[in-house]
This record gives sequence, C-alpha cells and structure tokens, in this order.
Amino acid sequence: MKLVILDRDGVINHDSDEFIKSPEEWIPIPGSLEAIARLNQSGYRVVVASNQSGIARGLFDIFTLNAIHQKLHRAAKQAGADIDAVFFCPHAADDNCDCRKPKPGMFQAIAKRFEVSLKGVPCIGDSLRDLQAGFIVGCTPLLVRTGKGERTLAKGGLPPGTSVHVDLAAAVEFLLKSRKVAVEAA
Ligand SMILES: [Mg+2]
Ligand SMILES: [Zn+2]
Repeated sequence: MKLVILDRDGVINHDSDEFIKSPEEWIPIPGSLEAIARLNQSGYRVVVASNQSGIARGLFDIFTLNAIHQKLHRAAKQAGADIDAVFFCPHAADDNCDCRKPKPGMFQAIAKRFEVSLKGVPCIGDSLRDLQAGFIVGCTPLLVRTGKGERTLAKGGLPPGTSVHVDLAAAVEFLLKSRKVAVEAA
C-alpha cells in the first residue's frame, strides 16, 4: 500500500495566524486538491495529520472541526480526490500529549490504523514540526513554501533529506516523477 501523509493548514488550505476556526475560513490553496487527486490516481492513499490546538484554546469546538473536515472532504470529492482519514491533535503544547507534532503519536496511529510501516512514506508539511514528527518514524520529509513554509525555510534546521517545493502541486509532481524514475531504475 502506498501512503502519503499531509499536514492540513498551509499545505492543503490557506493558513492563518488566527487559526482556521470555521468552515468559511477553510479555503483550499489553488491546485492542492487536484494534486491529491493525482496522488490517488497513482495509487496513493492520502491521510492528513493536523495539530488543532485551537480546540484546547477554546477557539472552536470538535463539532466545528468536524464541519471544517466535512467541507474538506466535500471539496476534495469535487476535485476527484479522496482523503482517507484526518488525524488531529486537539491538545495545547503544555498538555504534554503524545500526538501533538513534533511528537510522532499521530503518525504512529496512522501506521497502526493502516497496518503499514512509515519507512520512506512521504510526509508533506509547511512547519518544521510536521517534518520532525515524520522524520522520527522514518518518513521522507517534503517542505512546501505555502503557509508557514517560507518562515520555516528561513529558520533552517530541516531534517536531513528534506526536499523543498513551491506548493503541494509541485511536491506531488516531484514525488510522482522521482518514484517513476526509481521504478524505471529498479
Ligand atoms: Mg501547517
Ligand atoms: Zn495531542
């Protein structure tokens, strides 16, 4: 089974420093849903792993988060894309949970749910902690420059082997091309 793990805010949809607190504020980045559709067409299942500390902060509740994800799934479907599951961490940093990235708890839950090893599984994010969480469990990190990506890139300290891409569409293009080359060379 081929799997890709995506961060949500700043990768699939536009991010906001004030959090995405309602379905209305959830706006896809142009080309991102089509990029997920391309992954699906190439046999990838796509899963989202997202920190949502806005819940712990009381900025929105779980029902609103569900409504946001309904919008995500509906918009994906309209673009011919399918997102298998959305894993999220509702905690704040000082809750010391195991799921908030850069901790790998959500990734481990994904591995368990899909009964796969995450070794070499592409993980795509716009923040350092997305890539760190993936790197710990053996994922291949890809940084996008959308969302907080430019800030992340400027700060540096990316996990070894991180590749950098303009946006999700470009990251998927790179992924499909490099995997194709790998298959042809095998
Ligand atoms: Mg993000
Ligand atoms: Zn958590």
